[in-house]
Amino acid sequence: MTKTIIGYPRIGAHRELKFATQKYFKQAITAADLQATGATLRRTNWATLQAAGLDQIPTGDFSFFDTTLDTAFLLNIVPARYQALGLAPLDEYFALARGYQGPAGDVKALSMKKWFNTNYHYLQPEFDQDTTITVGDWQLFDQFQEAKAQGLNARPSLVGPYTLLRLSRFLDGRTPRDFTVALVAAYTTILAKLVALGAEWIQIDEPALVFDQSDADLALFHDLYAPLLAAKGDAKILLQTYFGDVRDSYATLTTLAFDGLGLDFVEGRTENLRLVTAGFPSDKVLFAGLINGKNIWRSNYQTVLDTYYALRKATELIILSTSTSLLHVPYTTANETQIAPSELAHLAFAEQKLTELAELDEIRAHGTASPAFAANQQLFATPRVAADPVIAAKIAALTPADYKREPARSLRLREQADTLGLPVLPTTTIGSFPQTAAVRKNRAQLRKGAITEAAYTEFNHAETRRWLRLQEELGLDVLVHGEFERNDMVEYFGENLAGFRFTENGWVQSYGTRGVKPPIIWGDVARTRPITVAETVYAQSQTDKPVKGMLTGPVTILNWSFPRADVSPKLSTEQIALALAEETLDLEAHGIRYIQIDEPALRENLPLRQKDWYTAYLDWAVPAFRLVSAQVQPTTQIHTHMCYSEFADIIDAIDALDADVISFEAARADLTLLDVLQETHFETHVGPGVYDIHSPRVPSVDEIVGIIHQILDRLPVENVWINPDCGLKTREEPETLASLRNLVAATQQVRKELVHESQPAL
Ligand code: GLN
Ligand code: ZN
Repeated sequence: MTKTIIGYPRIGAHRELKFATQKYFKQAITAADLQATGATLRRTNWATLQAAGLDQIPTGDFSFFDTTLDTAFLLNIVPARYQALGLAPLDEYFALARGYQGPAGDVKALSMKKWFNTNYHYLQPEFDQDTTITVGDWQLFDQFQEAKAQGLNARPSLVGPYTLLRLSRFLDGRTPRDFTVALVAAYTTILAKLVALGAEWIQIDEPALVFDQSDADLALFHDLYAPLLAAKGDAKILLQTYFGDVRDSYATLTTLAFDGLGLDFVEGRTENLRLVTAGFPSDKVLFAGLINGKNIWRSNYQTVLDTYYALRKATELIILSTSTSLLHVPYTTANETQIAPSELAHLAFAEQKLTELAELDEIRAHGTASPAFAANQQLFATPRVAADPVIAAKIAALTPADYKREPARSLRLREQADTLGLPVLPTTTIGSFPQTAAVRKNRAQLRKGAITEAAYTEFNHAETRRWLRLQEELGLDVLVHGEFERNDMVEYFGENLAGFRFTENGWVQSYGTRGVKPPIIWGDVARTRPITVAETVYAQSQTDKPVKGMLTGPVTILNWSFPRADVSPKLSTEQIALALAEETLDLEAHGIRYIQIDEPALRENLPLRQKDWYTAYLDWAVPAFRLVSAQVQPTTQIHTHMCYSEFADIIDAIDALDADVISFEAARADLTLLDVLQETHFETHVGPGVYDIHSPRVPSVDEIVGIIHQILDRLPVENVWINPDCGLKTREEPETLASLRNLVAATQQVRKELVHESQPAL
């Protein structure tokens, strides 16, 4: 055995899984049809992996939604409210993933969380007083048997008990410790069952080991694995980590009876290399994550080999692998026709990374005389792109004043209250409205050249007009144009800035059925023309209500693109921020009074270890945001938006963005963030999303009133906005209108209560 990977993308090279799943949700196909699509995708993937010469192939990496949810589901970690629906397993699984509203009942989805430092999201399992861990029959065993039946050397994989406990939510006073015994028993059963089915190696993913570990954490890890490994029988256990290094747990990992350790030598390179070269146990196999599983650039074989040979000094048993699952990169560059071949040669998607593994394996066996090595060195002989001197001069000329908005926010907010004329609890939305089939078709036709630019724009304008009327009828206070011209927002900005490249099929799963197609930051970034001005100004010309301009922030553009590897993310982000600052001022010059700068991905690249948060990231990410908005007038209101509410621990950084208003998720998170906002006297005005747009269910007026009350229990009424928790582009129109109608009705009800309360008693 010489080479393997941790996991492969599963959505299909042409997003077959997404389309089939959505059809299933609409009851256009049966469960059996959906299962058949899954089986076909797995077969295709496995054939690719086999053809690439991998001698051990992971299974269990396929999922209808999320592998953390698969593991929880396999273990029966399903809250009673979902079990009570009495649905068939597949439907119960989807109820956990996306909520359920139908004849069987009405439940919200589990909460969805970012998967470490990626743009992938997992469903957060919930442990409570009713949780009874048992081993059921879901995906893992079937997938393994399917692969075996195809004659593959398959290695089943699943999320490990430690990571499961670290990522889950605990209710009813339960703690992870309450479940260790049951989890050990369940994983022991799983291992025995897999061995009985013919498994040799079994991969247990424990990425949570790359976080900072306390002594209590390590004790928990030990107490899970010591008994589990004692009972593993013939199974060979690969303990797989990724997204960083295992500095705190290396001593534990090397002393426990694991058969293989999977370590990341890309993101965790410095520390993991230091640990392994200081000593690696001779009874274990090192699965060395040498090929970057997250970026899309060709590996420099010389650099990879340097690391490999350093590791070789510590151990001979090295399997070449990827640093992470290839889930985070697109399938293949083979389907890209729009990128010049000379540029494409610098890119490696999942399939190309398989080739890299094979070539490295061949080079390590036969030496650097291999033609593959020479070709690779050729690629890196000269810089890929030259720096733009104009952009470099602009960056060099920046001073502290460029990052500082005047006057102070408290003064600005007062001026804005005086000039903007908003009611108490102003209502708004986050920007996008449903991207209906017609909207998507319009864009597709423009791309195909089937319609003129003018016809394209006229369609979007008509859609904007229709939605302005709808927003007016609904009674919203600050309107939006609807973002009909944007497919993916980052792609949209990238297309209108210099320095980006785009793929046609470079889809990466973000969550469940949702894929993103990240642009590639190819070179220096600059604004060459206005981007959003025409659409925003048009919308404002069609209504007397204020229209909010919509920009995507620099940190999000960076984090949702494939970044360069040849310059720092800080530099790329500054370039993007400078370009966006020009756009902000242009909108303001055209009379736009509200400008929202979305930063849903701000937290995305927050280092996994807390001590690096500011120094390695926030210390440049926050200033980049400020650079975009610092030069506007005091009475221009700067909004920002984040999709999640997990920022209690970086609350200072969020306030330091110096926006006037921030909207974020709250409806389906717990309300602790609101307590933190209260305690810290958070100054930015807030729009805690009052309902969850990630699910099709329509919140009732009472439900929203209840949430508004909870908000007002904690925050001064004059600081609060009312809005959904994210953009509405993924929703259908009827549910969107129904939800917004209830949102406005709820707000009006609370406004009445406020008037009532403020009247002196007679
Ligand atoms: N303005 C964007 C929208 O409404 C924000 C999207 C996001 O936060 N992901 O779609
Ligand atoms: Zn959002």
